[in-house]
Amino acid sequence: MGLGFWLWRLTLLSAIFFSPNQCTCQKDGVVNSRARVLGGGSCLNAGFYTRASPHYVREVGWDGKLVNESYRWVERVVAFQPPMRQWQSAVRDGLIEVGVLPYNGFTYDHVYGTKVGGSIFDQNGHRHTAADLLEYANTNTMTLLLHAIVHRILFITNNKGGSSSRPVAHGVVFKDEHGREHMAYLKQGSRNEIIVSAGALGSPQLLMLSGIGAAHHLREHNISVVLDQPLVGQGMSDNPMNAIFVPSPAPVEVSLIQVVGITDFGSYIEAASGENFNHRSRRDFGMFSPKIGQFSKLPPKQRTPEAIEKAIERMESLDQDAFKGGFILEKIMGPISRGHLELQNTDPNENPIVTFNYFQDPRDLEMCIQGINTIERIISSKAFSPFKYDNMPVSMLLNMTANSPVNLLPKHTNTSMSLAQFCRDTVMTIWHYHGGCQVGRVVDTDYKVLGVDALRVIDGSTFNYSPGTNPQATVMMLGRYMGVKILTERLVADETK
Ligand SMILES: Cc1cc2nc3c(=O)[nH]c(=O)nc-3n(C[C@H](O)[C@H](O)[C@H](O)COP(=O)(O)OP(=O)(O)OC[C@H]3O[C@@H](n4cnc5c(N)ncnc54)[C@H](O)[C@@H]3O)c2cc1C
Repeated sequence: MGLGFWLWRLTLLSAIFFSPNQCTCQKDGVVNSRARVLGGGSCLNAGFYTRASPHYVREVGWDGKLVNESYRWVERVVAFQPPMRQWQSAVRDGLIEVGVLPYNGFTYDHVYGTKVGGSIFDQNGHRHTAADLLEYANTNTMTLLLHAIVHRILFITNNKGGSSSRPVAHGVVFKDEHGREHMAYLKQGSRNEIIVSAGALGSPQLLMLSGIGAAHHLREHNISVVLDQPLVGQGMSDNPMNAIFVPSPAPVEVSLIQVVGITDFGSYIEAASGENFNHRSRRDFGMFSPKIGQFSKLPPKQRTPEAIEKAIERMESLDQDAFKGGFILEKIMGPISRGHLELQNTDPNENPIVTFNYFQDPRDLEMCIQGINTIERIISSKAFSPFKYDNMPVSMLLNMTANSPVNLLPKHTNTSMSLAQFCRDTVMTIWHYHGGCQVGRVVDTDYKVLGVDALRVIDGSTFNYSPGTNPQATVMMLGRYMGVKILTERLVADETK
């Protein structure tokens, strides 16, 4: 079994359930989503494509030249310049007017100021995903299994004895769509390894199911301990997102994220507009729909299934005019607040339990307050005025109580108090959750799992902070970056034999 097989195998080995989207179980009360499909999150995400900053690349210790080559490799297949219509252009011009400068035009680069970023949607509106990168694959040496869920990684202990004996990954147990169990093994004596890319929720979960995790937690679930590693599942973060819906007197285009304001205080401003209408979903706010758990009218802990069901009913009964408008959102960089992940049970089809501790660190809250402040100024800007009712001040938008699932909280009237409260009460996710198998804690800088052999984790679970304003470009880049590094190391090793 060649390296190519394993590299792609676990990167792309995906389950297709009834829906490619699975809601996740979270202690914070913010409803989250997880992709369960070939291509992962890129199959259902908002499509914005943007690189990490050179500073981020230096901090992580990556080779800048190979990073840039790898971004270009990804971009040749999945990244496009988005069309800029009136509403997104007004957000862009509003950002410029309120001083999120300079204006950097269209670029994939992460630079301070306002820019138009890339999109994985092409000019015809067709989505391109991580699975499209398979066009680079050598189909003679690769096997791709769909509807296959890895239940655990198998280990043997090498026979060197003494303190040098370490568990060595040598195969996986997986089940197909009929629930039949299969095993796949690495070729004996080869340098092959298993590469896990099950994402920030899946990778720490799979390591734990395979016996790598905090021993006491594994024993609670009757899992045999291969390695007592309490840091698996620690350092989980999700970048909190808060948004304001701005009803518009003028028609707006349907748009996902196209523009971003990268501020110098750690808040990123983006926007999406229009009604997402189709015959199955009926009236829908798209990426802000309560149907996917995006619901900010109640504080997180009160977002019960019943409350969400009511919000969906209300949304579907809204008049078409209520969808004329858009959401201007801010999310924070980092974040600094950290949480953890633990197993709910031993079924990899089910989600682990995650706590993200949104805004636990006051610096995260401060970034949110400044971000919302900037959004308020954008809404009041001259550039944005065609898309806002004159008689609706920002305070009214924050407190809008109309029979609508958007915006919030009637209680807060004191603005200086309410922005912090607004951040906490209206927090949603932008789905950039990461951590759980962080570099330096669970994997080394070559993404090898510490304490065992022949096992790497390469995906968003290894990040200490979310890269750039949106992570998917860097997750895809990292797959190619590490693939090239591993192959090069093998070639060098062969030549020096
Ligand atoms: C709704 C949504 C909107 C988003 N919008 C954007 C955006 O606009 N721009 C952006 O840059 N990012 C966006 N993101 C984030 C981005 O998509 C993710 O950061 C990225 O996909 C993470 O990649 P990953 O490989 O770490 O994990 P994932 O994409 O989650 O991939 C993990 C894969 O592993 C598979 N898997 C898990 N467990 C197992 C198992 N036991 N056996 C076999 N396979 C398994 C899953 O099926 C999945 O295919 C969004 C995400 C979501 C969910």
